[in-house]
Amino acid sequence: MKTKYKTIFGPVPSRRFGRSLGVDLVPFKTCSLDCVFCQLGRTTDKTITRKEYILLQSVLEELTDWLDSEGTADYITLSGSGEPTLHSRFGEVLQFITSKTKIPSVLLTNGTLFYLPEVREAAAHADVVKISISVWDQTYFQHVNRPHPKLDFDKIVEGIRLFRNEHHGKIWIEVFLIDGVNTIPADVERIAQLIEGVRPDRIHLNTAVRPPAEDFVTALSNRELNKLAPLFHPTAEVIADFHADLTSHGQFNENAIVAMLQRRPCTAEQISKAFGMHLNETFKYLGDLLRTNQVMEVKKNQNKFYCVKKTKREQSAHQ
Ligand code: SF4
Repeated sequence: MKTKYKTIFGPVPSRRFGRSLGVDLVPFKTCSLDCVFCQLGRTTDKTITRKEYILLQSVLEELTDWLDSEGTADYITLSGSGEPTLHSRFGEVLQFITSKTKIPSVLLTNGTLFYLPEVREAAAHADVVKISISVWDQTYFQHVNRPHPKLDFDKIVEGIRLFRNEHHGKIWIEVFLIDGVNTIPADVERIAQLIEGVRPDRIHLNTAVRPPAEDFVTALSNRELNKLAPLFHPTAEVIADFHADLTSHGQFNENAIVAMLQRRPCTAEQISKAFGMHLNETFKYLGDLLRTNQVMEVKKNQNKFYCVKKTKREQSAHQ
């Protein structure tokens, strides 16, 4: 097994998917949306152009190498740095996974391109398709998801409904709730009603447990999420990862990141580079470290740096 891949990463621990091998099909922050809650920061390439961003051949070569080296995971997930359905050949990646391994495949998507029959056809090759829907109309779509100007919310929802009718595999919906933005019960009911029309197999509620793109985005508590869950049909499951759920490997990585930040503040990109980790994985660790108050964010020249929080004792020792 190669130690460093360009398009596959992990397996990373995930509450929904156990140990999940990620396959990243687009360059960093290439997305049709620019969600205010995105844990990867603001979108740098907002597009609806579908093309072969990463050569299919190189993705398949990496997957082959990983599988031949007896790589194990609970799921193989198309996810990562942006919207995977923008890759014009993502369906072929899914078909390849199905033909080469029994590990189930997952497509994590924002669903914005499901109005295109070719996207629905390609997505149908996934064992699980998980689609995010967190608003109920175009106005809120613009406010929360900041879409590409050519995207129309009703057309997207219609595309997702069509997909449900055509596809017999599992469809899960994830709703991202932002305190004070889409969380008053009447609004949550609107989202719930819209999702009911899609007839998903499962519904997941998530909130900003990792650093979001915009500072005004704040998380709901676990209790608040559990209170809203019965408004959905079927009743939603709260999947917001409030507690670190780390393997010993994950714990090792967290400790190593803290040790590095003790020496000097770093950006997420620098941490990724230093540990040979995908940015997604880095943000997962940083989210846990921020939540447990071990590190803090400092903004400098438009960049976000992470550094270790000093105790009062340490601060006075340096004065
Ligand atoms: S959360 Fe997903 S859909 Fe939204 S901007 Fe980030 S990558 Fe794109």
